[in-house]
Amino acid sequence: MRKCLRCEAEMVENLSMMAYDGGFGLDVREKGLFKGSLGKIRCAVCPECGYTETYIEDTQKLKDLTKKR
Ligand SMILES: [Zn+2]
Repeated sequence: MRKCLRCEAEMVENLSMMAYDGGFGLDVREKGLFKGSLGKIRCAVCPECGYTETYIEDTQKLKDLTKKR
């Protein structure tokens, strides 16, 4: 469970982030044209103040990446 950093209310999690006009979701990639996605960006929104936070659901690829360096 995520708590809002501002007002500590329970946040609504696992929401998708979509671009306005294209309908494309967002993900995070390593620098470089042909690198695969490191994970889809999810967001959580506070129902009290509207504060929105983004996170990556599965952090395993990021952990592998830090080991490589
Ligand atoms: Zn809040």
